[in-house]
Amino acid sequence: MTDSLTLPQYDWPTMEPGWVWLCGAGPGDPGLLTLHAVNALQQADVVIYDALVQEAILQWAPQAEHVYAGKRGGKPSAKQRDISLRLVDLAREGKRVLRLKGGDPFVFGRGGEEAQTLIQHGINVRIIPGISAGIGGLAYAGIPVTHRDVNQSVTFVTGHDQTGDTPSSLNWKAIAEGAQVLVIYMGMKHVDRIAGELLTAGRPADEPCAVVCSATTEDQQVLETTLGQMAADIEASGLKPPAILCIGRSVLMRQVLDWQGLIAGETPRNLDPLGRGRPAEQA
Ligand code: SAH
Repeated sequence: MTDSLTLPQYDWPTMEPGWVWLCGAGPGDPGLLTLHAVNALQQADVVIYDALVQEAILQWAPQAEHVYAGKRGGKPSAKQRDISLRLVDLAREGKRVLRLKGGDPFVFGRGGEEAQTLIQHGINVRIIPGISAGIGGLAYAGIPVTHRDVNQSVTFVTGHDQTGDTPSSLNWKAIAEGAQVLVIYMGMKHVDRIAGELLTAGRPADEPCAVVCSATTEDQQVLETTLGQMAADIEASGLKPPAILCIGRSVLMRQVLDWQGLIAGETPRNLDPLGRGRPAEQA
């Protein structure tokens, strides 16, 4: 590997002074940065990053000032309003500002609010999507977020809203009845309530679930469980956020697709976990 990554010749956008680029950093593994993100990291004067951004990624912007804008070690989180206005100030100072967020900035990441504030203040903005934890994180756990034998839709849910509570605006009964596979962000705190709502609404207690913690990082941990056991198993395991909860039969695919386990020398637990009874290449 080279020390620095030289991007191939291409019409890469230039970061102009006074602009803010709102960029997804992916779920953790720096290899999951987009090339636009790398291009931005190489040009920024200041990088304002969240708690979920792996610090290793900041090494890709050695020339830039690194400003932490998140919650860690029990410190109160920087207020959203303060962060947005700080971005405005930095842009007005003529800085090239890279606002770096975990996953994708527009997926449960308040990227919409930040970009709106910037535009309302007349600041020029570019948006760089990223790989969201609910897709890329599950892939690292060997769980395909869609699979033809399981689901034709995916429901992304946040486990808490602005009040920090389980979102009261959610119709859990409708979700329980309509969602084929559920992918829940920020679900750890209220996992017992979430599982309870889904069970009450008729989801089976033996429905497969996975909890994927610190996905794509060196600390990745995966717990396989069931809807009925999920809250108790999380409690017993001591697993900590950040975690993605996945509820649905696609979780079974991990028995064959746990590619990280395979790389580490394990053998597949079950080559046909969905019980199709025929090779996967046959329709
Ligand atoms: N914009 C982000 C989500 C931010 S909300 C994205 O697109 O991924 C924060 C939540 O994202 C966490 O509570 C957790 O549910 C999830 N998350 C982010 N990174 C994660 C990771 N590496 N592993 C597991 N969950 C993660």
